[in-house]
Amino acid sequence: MRRLYVVTYTERMTVRQNPERVPGITLLRLEPDGIHAVWEDGHGSHYPYRFLRGNCPCAMCVLEGTNQRVVFEKDVPEDVIALDWMQVGRYAVQFLWSDAHETGIFTFQYLRHLDGELRG
Ligand SMILES: [Zn+2]
Repeated sequence: MRRLYVVTYTERMTVRQNPERVPGITLLRLEPDGIHAVWEDGHGSHYPYRFLRGNCPCAMCVLEGTNQRVVFEKDVPEDVIALDWMQVGRYAVQFLWSDAHETGIFTFQYLRHLDGELRG
């Protein structure tokens, strides 16, 4: 049975890790059609799996130095899903994807940015 993690978000981490004061995620759930997140300000996000995998920020997907993305949503399997995830510190989450990729660390700040992209 999958455990649901509750992210606690302290003022100290808010200042150090998130100068733009991005809220923390209080609930994250892998659902059949994507990743559901609830933020501490009450906002809800839904990320389709392939979208999030295609926006992986790791050094294999985005070249260091030039910041050029080399792996896009179209480059990953259409049916890719997240098999598992874990919390990284108090500022990010890391996913294990069904294509065996796992190096991407998605900060709350980046996830909130992607939420905005999904909403246009
Ligand atoms: Zn990656």
